[in-house]
Amino acid sequence: MDLVIAQSCPSCGAEISLAEDDRLVRCPYCDVYNYRVAGSAPRYLLPGRLPAAVDPAAVVHIPYLRFKGTVYEVGGEGVHHRIVDTTRLGIEEDDLPPSLGLRPQAMRLLPLIASRPGSYLRQSVPGEEAFNQAVAVAGLLRRRERRALYHRAFIGETLSRIYQPCYLHGDTVFDGVVARPLGGGELFSRHRSVAADPAWEPRFISSHCPRCSGGLEGERDTLVLRCRGCRSEWQEEGGRFVPVSSTMVPTSIRDALHLPFWRVTIVTEGVRLTGFGDYLRFTNQPLAVRPAFDSLPLSLWVPAFKLNPRSFLQVAAQLTLGQWRLPAAEEGYVDEVYGANLPAREALQAVKTVLAHTTVSKKTSLPLLAELRIARHETRLIYVPFVVRGLDYVEEHSGAALLAAALRLGKTL
Ligand SMILES: [Zn+2]
Ligand SMILES: [Zn+2]
Repeated sequence: MDLVIAQSCPSCGAEISLAEDDRLVRCPYCDVYNYRVAGSAPRYLLPGRLPAAVDPAAVVHIPYLRFKGTVYEVGGEGVHHRIVDTTRLGIEEDDLPPSLGLRPQAMRLLPLIASRPGSYLRQSVPGEEAFNQAVAVAGLLRRRERRALYHRAFIGETLSRIYQPCYLHGDTVFDGVVARPLGGGELFSRHRSVAADPAWEPRFISSHCPRCSGGLEGERDTLVLRCRGCRSEWQEEGGRFVPVSSTMVPTSIRDALHLPFWRVTIVTEGVRLTGFGDYLRFTNQPLAVRPAFDSLPLSLWVPAFKLNPRSFLQVAAQLTLGQWRLPAAEEGYVDEVYGANLPAREALQAVKTVLAHTTVSKKTSLPLLAELRIARHETRLIYVPFVVRGLDYVEEHSGAALLAAALRLGKTL
């Protein structure tokens, strides 16, 4: 479930509500759009309710690491997956709750503002621990199968830090959210505290087209912003917009829905796969490998939008296997597309998982995945037209299909 954050509008200062994956933010008060810069692991605070006697400057914030995303494991004889949403204490301390439980979802969080009074305990647990915890919570492979784990990936994950306010009253440390005692006062002195760094604050940039100054458009969680004025596309990198050069699979069908995919073209080592023919042989497809397939590059077609794991793997597999049936992608711009909300680096993360999912001879081929390394890769954003057929969206050349409901549900992941 998305966290909700009480953010002040960067343009007029009014308090607005954000979902944690909101990027293009419209303020209902001043009607201005701003774009939220992707930081590494954004920081939020649980709102405290402090007794009047407590000096806000004496509040100590305890760090928790949060992971939300899908864990995929290739092992045993297949691909296993689970959506996980979990928090874990960011310091080694037995007197504090090991996780925040459902608390972050039950309240509106605050963004971390450096000028807010109080101090912060320094996170001493490495960030990877959030991933280890996610693996443990997912519990995908049984103990005896763990020996046969060939690959693990985290896809579409959000990593953040959530701080729990605490304060000292007498000689007791209290939970600043519900005023419950947590432990003795020495708890604070066992850990180093640091002042907030202004670099921890959320950052926004103006959402205007760098080329023509027109307003950039997109859905609230979009990673690729579009300008109707000069028909260009942009993504934020390091606090500024850089151009995106996408292509599209041509179609004669009007009102097709253009879904974004990352086409990840790879050459691998360990197990050497250099073209589409190699891929068909490695995954043992029941399909005659024509000579022409060996001159095609090996590309995996990974959705650039969020979907539940089952649909994600299904449409990636169908489009990857059927890519040779697609007309060549062309330069171009259509006004209406489905917004990309899964970054290219996540598509790269998904490559081996999609390879595993499309493997027919799982018993013999999956163990080889542990040795397969991606030596070179190139990623390209491609819009693929899908048309409505009953309850599905279907790509007419490859037959790739996606339940319309899966697309709607993907918005809530
Ligand atoms: Zn505003
Ligand atoms: Zn423009």
